[in-house]
Amino acid sequence: MSAKRAVNFGAGPSALPLSVLQEASTNLLNFQNTGIGITEISHRSKEFTGFLADLEARIRKQLDVPPTHKIIFTQGGGTGQFSAVVYNLLARHRLLHPELGDDERRLEYVVTGSWSKKAMEEAKRLCAGPRGVGGTVKVVVDARTFSKDGKSFDNIPPHAEYQFSPYTTTSLVHLRTRPPPPALIYYCENETVDGVQFSDDLKSPQSFPFGLLFPPDSDNEEGEGHQPLLPLVADYSSSFMSRPIPRLADHAVIFAGAQKNLGPAGLTIVIVRQDCLVDADAAGKLGAPPIPLTFAYKTIADSNSVYNTPSVFAIYVAGLVVKNIEEEGGLVQYEQVNRRKKEKLYGIVKVGEEAGVLRRKVQEGSESWMNVVFEVLGVDGLVSKEAEQRFIDGASQRGMVALKGHRFATLHTSFYFSEKLTIIRLFLEIDPSEVRPLINVAGLALIVSTGIRASIYNAVTEDDVEGLVVYVKEFIQTEKESRA
Ligand code: PMP
Repeated sequence: MSAKRAVNFGAGPSALPLSVLQEASTNLLNFQNTGIGITEISHRSKEFTGFLADLEARIRKQLDVPPTHKIIFTQGGGTGQFSAVVYNLLARHRLLHPELGDDERRLEYVVTGSWSKKAMEEAKRLCAGPRGVGGTVKVVVDARTFSKDGKSFDNIPPHAEYQFSPYTTTSLVHLRTRPPPPALIYYCENETVDGVQFSDDLKSPQSFPFGLLFPPDSDNEEGEGHQPLLPLVADYSSSFMSRPIPRLADHAVIFAGAQKNLGPAGLTIVIVRQDCLVDADAAGKLGAPPIPLTFAYKTIADSNSVYNTPSVFAIYVAGLVVKNIEEEGGLVQYEQVNRRKKEKLYGIVKVGEEAGVLRRKVQEGSESWMNVVFEVLGVDGLVSKEAEQRFIDGASQRGMVALKGHRFATLHTSFYFSEKLTIIRLFLEIDPSEVRPLINVAGLALIVSTGIRASIYNAVTEDDVEGLVVYVKEFIQTEKESRA
């Protein structure tokens, strides 16, 4: 190989294990001695369908997915699932409760960051207007309310703040006093942009509040009811296969794009509880909107994920990655390594904070294991673009890349008319808190601060993280000396 490979801290697509890439490159020419490359072989060949079934079994084993749930492989990414969950779970709700009106089909969103906000906005867009899909979106909690500055996503809110609607159980008391469960309850387990993640320790105040949705039996008045199957949906795009999933069996849908911990972009994995594999046409007869076939969970599941041509290459690479996880000790081992990686990195960021050089963005206890976000400060103690650039340049000289924080790539144009002057400003739309436009009569200066984000997914090794820690330490020292 010619050039040395960089250490890639990108948020996705992201690093993949070298051994996997090497094996994949061989199989690009000849897959399993068929004489045909993996990107050329039929998705209906016995070699490929066998490989797919094997991948399903390996994921099932690693994540301990019970037989109540199907694992399906599809396309369209996390964004596709923002829409798919709305269609499928509204159809399910229509079949369960045909008598309800649209305003009674609630879609409840926990908003803890940019991605859950986007998912909620997509649900609102789909539901809106007389031609909408027929549901009402409710924000159960918005984490910005509990942030340090009142506008950032920097925390997992306290359990007491979640306003889930009460729902009926089969208890006689609830039956007549409460409405049926919502059509959907949604959260994003790891917010890739904001670096906020639910704790996997269910006793932690920053864990997902399962207890509010699934109260212990003693809460069931008369003790005779049991919980209905709740439509709990989780976006696991950026933490899938990084550690075990708490209370997996209590979820209706768990989805993840592959391009963080698992493989190339183009593959989306969805774990669906079987009661959510609904007959969309039957729901349609009751007034539900038709589901585009490539989004219909039942259609995909019934055809073992080959209803149409799947992303053969991405599935293949994901298969190699999962085998690699197994060979290295499985998810339990990965959990330990990932825990050590994030502890080392947050540890040095804390040192930088004490030295006045760095500042963590996320509140204690809500920090992501996968996406570590922080800011670089100038002499004045404020975020400094120049210092940030020095940090990025120094890292890049040491072969560490893709450390710049997230940018939304939507181009916006605004026109401002002053007395004689028209100022046209063009800027990348970034979170408003990150944009500080300074306008004066002579023109426009735009200060954009996105901070640093180090994504330390599975394929970023403990050695890679240690390399970054050494560099951050040096950086802190150099900055301190230059300011003395
Ligand atoms: N959810 C999360 C948590 C993500 O990180 C991303 C993408 N980075 C998405 C959803 C959207 O995924 P995609 O780009 O595959 O549509």
